[in-house]
Amino acid sequence: MNILVCVKQVPDTTSIKIDPIKHTLIRTGVPSIVNPYDAYALEMAARIKDAVGGKICALSMGPEMAKDALKECLSVGADEAYLISDRVFGGSDTLATSCIISTAIKLLEEKNGAPFDLIFCGKQAIDGDTGQVGPEIAEHLDRALITYAYESQIEGDAIKVRRESDEGYDMLLAHFPAVVTVEKTPYEPRYPSIKSKMAARKAQITTLTSAEVTVDENSRGLKGSPTKVKSTYTAEVQKNGQTISGLDGSLAGAKIASLLFDAGIIK
Ligand code: FAD
Repeated sequence: MNILVCVKQVPDTTSIKIDPIKHTLIRTGVPSIVNPYDAYALEMAARIKDAVGGKICALSMGPEMAKDALKECLSVGADEAYLISDRVFGGSDTLATSCIISTAIKLLEEKNGAPFDLIFCGKQAIDGDTGQVGPEIAEHLDRALITYAYESQIEGDAIKVRRESDEGYDMLLAHFPAVVTVEKTPYEPRYPSIKSKMAARKAQITTLTSAEVTVDENSRGLKGSPTKVKSTYTAEVQKNGQTISGLDGSLAGAKIASLLFDAGIIK
C-alpha cells in the first residue's frame, strides 16, 4: 500500500489575531503547527499501514520552515517526506496550490513507477478553511474522491469510508487510486516517542523546486491566481488547557513525557 498524505503547516489559529484595519492575519510570534485535520489524515494512513503494511509519503508546499511540520510527520509514521518550495509558487490561490501539488504528486509517482493507492488530505486547513485543495487534487489527477472521512478500512483494492451525515452516516467505497479528505476522527493522532522525534529531527527532507515541479506560469503563483479575498473574519476561540483522552495509562504517560520534553521541562 502506497499512501501520500498532504500536510500543510499552519499558524496555530487558537493564538492568532486579525489586524482590525488591514483585515489580515497577524502571524508574528504565532507558533506554526501541522494542520490538525492533516494530523488526523496521517493517523488514518498510519492505521492502514499498521493493518496491511505499506509506505507513507508526506508532502507539503510552503517555505523552508514547513520542514518542521514534515519532520513531525516522520516522527509519527511517515516513511519519507518532500517539501515543494520555490519563490515562483508564492501568492498561489487554492487552484494554483492544488495544481502545483498535483504536479509534484505526478513527479513522485513517475519516480515510484506507479500511482499512490491513496492520497489523503485534511478536510480543510484551519487558516484558509476553504476545503478546496483535496477535491481539486482529485480533479487534476482524475482520481475517485471521498470527502469528510470519519473512519475507513481497506477492502481488497478499495477503501471503505464511513462519513457522518445529517441522517446518520454513509458508507462509501472507492477503488484505488483514490483521494480521501479526512475530518476529525475518533482516533487521536499518535504521539511520537522521544526516539522517533530525535530520528526525525536528523532526517533529510528533499526540496522540490520549480525546476522539477514544472507548472505553466499562468497556473502558478500570482499570475495563476485570479482569486480575490473580499473579507476575513475571526473564528471563535475555544481552548482551555489540553485534555489527553482516549489513551490508556502508559500511552498517556508517554504523551505527557513527550509534551514536557517539547516544552524543555525535561531533557
Ligand atoms: P484547504 O483547501 O482548506 O486544505 C485542504 C487540505 O489540502 C489540507 O488539509 C491539506 O491536506 C491540503 N493542503 C492545502 N494546502 C496545502 C499545502 N500548502 N501543502 C500541502 N497540503 C496542503 N498562501 C501562502 O502561504 N502564501 C501566499 O503567498 C498566498 N497567496 C495567496 C493569494 C491568494 C489570492 C489567495 C486566495 C490565497 C493565497 N494563499 C497564500 C493561501 C493559499 O492559497 C491557501 O492557503 C492554499 O491554497 C490552501 O488553501 P486552504 O488553506 O483553503 O486549504
